[in-house]
Amino acid sequence: MARPLTATIDLNAILQNYRYAKKLQPTCKAFAVVKSNAYGHGAIEVARHLDNEADAFAVAAIEEAMALREAGIVSPVMLLEGVFEEYEWKLCEQHGFWAAIENTQQLNWLLASQVNIEKIFVKLDSGMRRLGADKAGACDLVKKLRESNQVGDVLLMTHFSCADDLSDIATMEQLTYFERARQEIGTIEASVANSAAIMKWAIPEGGWIRPGIMLYGISPFAGLTGQQLGLAPAMILSSKVISVRSLKKGEKVGYGLSYEAAEDHQLATVAVGYGDGYARHTQSGAPLEVNASPAMLAGRVSMDMITIRFADASQSFEIGQEVVLWGGSVPVENVADYASTIGYELVTRMTTRPRYQYH
Ligand code: PLP
Repeated sequence: MARPLTATIDLNAILQNYRYAKKLQPTCKAFAVVKSNAYGHGAIEVARHLDNEADAFAVAAIEEAMALREAGIVSPVMLLEGVFEEYEWKLCEQHGFWAAIENTQQLNWLLASQVNIEKIFVKLDSGMRRLGADKAGACDLVKKLRESNQVGDVLLMTHFSCADDLSDIATMEQLTYFERARQEIGTIEASVANSAAIMKWAIPEGGWIRPGIMLYGISPFAGLTGQQLGLAPAMILSSKVISVRSLKKGEKVGYGLSYEAAEDHQLATVAVGYGDGYARHTQSGAPLEVNASPAMLAGRVSMDMITIRFADASQSFEIGQEVVLWGGSVPVENVADYASTIGYELVTRMTTRPRYQYH
């Protein structure tokens, strides 16, 4: 038997989630955010499936954009962080990429390159303090880009720091700051919303939304799963039991002997580890499923293996049993809670070792 670890990706679920984002914001066009290998789901496969329908794709780097073009993707591709070096503007022109701009260096490179770009998104820092110009700087960038006659359409974008927290006033403050900048500029299309804002905040009509995590059926909100938000989770990570033994109460397991059996129970070893993207710091107790029965991690995660037990100590394992690590009835958000992280990170950190199956 080949190593049985498999990531099964439901491409139609991703398409369905994209349609759902557009249904929630029917006046907007939508980027499908496929950066970081489509959050671990496979950027090329995802983009091929959405290419006929997506208004455009969004990535973080020119290499990611080029990989899409090389794979035959024809939709526009947007560089969310703009260019990092001057030569990238030529590639943008050649391949029809759009880009964010946040500083005068990026602007000067664009002017010096004498390229023509279809759409530029001027990034306004409305409060996140990571990327973006302040109001005066953004107004200036818009003015100079318009004067250059090198850009078909100049838009204004911003990114929220706390849209995943519905009780935080930061999002309203950011929106107010954004709208003031828009008033100063006059007519300009907007792009503000990530998944959390698309699903839960009142955002400007028209313009462009930027759904990322929700495309993959994963929740941006703590304490809520994608399924609870009406999304279709797209990835099932599954493997098989490769060894079985019985533990007596008090026996210890794995590296550091960190897990101690509190009662007699069976222990199964499963072919998945941190070398595949199953986070090493996931705590014992993290949920899994074996033949539709609830089971849990028991012991430290190794590079290639984990050890697990059934929640019900009277149940027994067999070699070859299917183990769902996340997806299906094991929400990745719940596994992430045991790894002190978020669903975003677990799927994005998947490595190339699992077998990827698309349907
Ligand atoms: N827009 C920008 C600028 C981003 O950096 C990201 C992701 O980090 C997104 C949109 C998508 O965010 P989410 O995955 O929360 O929908």
